[in-house]
Amino acid sequence: MNYINKAQAKKLTGLSFLGSVSATTKHQKSIKYNELTYSLYLAPAKMSGYEVCPKRSKECTSLCLNHSGMNRMNMKGDMINQSRIKKTKLFFEHHEFFMNWLIDEIKSAKVKADKLGYKFSVRLNNTSDLSPESFILDGKNILQLLPKTKFYDYTKVYDRIELLKKYKNYDLTYSFSGNNFQDCISALNNKMRVAVVFKKVPTNFWGYKVIDGDAYDMRYYDKKNVIVGLKYKNVRKKLTKNSFVIE
Ligand code: SF4
Repeated sequence: MNYINKAQAKKLTGLSFLGSVSATTKHQKSIKYNELTYSLYLAPAKMSGYEVCPKRSKECTSLCLNHSGMNRMNMKGDMINQSRIKKTKLFFEHHEFFMNWLIDEIKSAKVKADKLGYKFSVRLNNTSDLSPESFILDGKNILQLLPKTKFYDYTKVYDRIELLKKYKNYDLTYSFSGNNFQDCISALNNKMRVAVVFKKVPTNFWGYKVIDGDAYDMRYYDKKNVIVGLKYKNVRKKLTKNSFVIE
């Protein structure tokens, strides 16, 4: 598959777009901060047949945010999941095509942000946990291809913290999965922020200050060694006792 332009890619794949700009409730909050965020939603875990969350726990998988918002209510039938699966398969099976389309969309979104006088950021992993180094085109990864663009992610892959030393345009928040307590403490001790999902967000936890992680999503505005408290969002599955969500 050869990428020509966005119109051709849409026609060829039947997808309307790969990523979207400040379209979800979470990312719309960036507008209040004069910022637009381009976000990509892939099919999490192994839903597409390809694993995109190498360090997921069974607890986070069962309460994954993939099934929140419109997708929780099944407002578009199974269309949202089907399009996320299609995008994930494109990533693995037609990587060059995927990357050309992705970069084209990111550049267009940046032009839009510039015209509005807004800042701009990109979150590649909203419902996945892939290394940005695996988004490759012509031998360079996306952080190298777009060095002036701010990228940020949350991850459950502890070693990915090393990327922060290599790329100035990347920000990362480590995430509690329900069974990685020791790594969370190591991350906090190493001046990393750690995201934790709570039923009710406290002001302190594990001896660290907790900040409101739902006010906006651009985590690089936050201090380093704090806990980012995220309020539990309802997903399709009913919440029963689960170590991923702190009660
Ligand atoms: S690692 Fe994140 S995206 Fe993947 S299943 Fe767990 S909560 Fe969902």
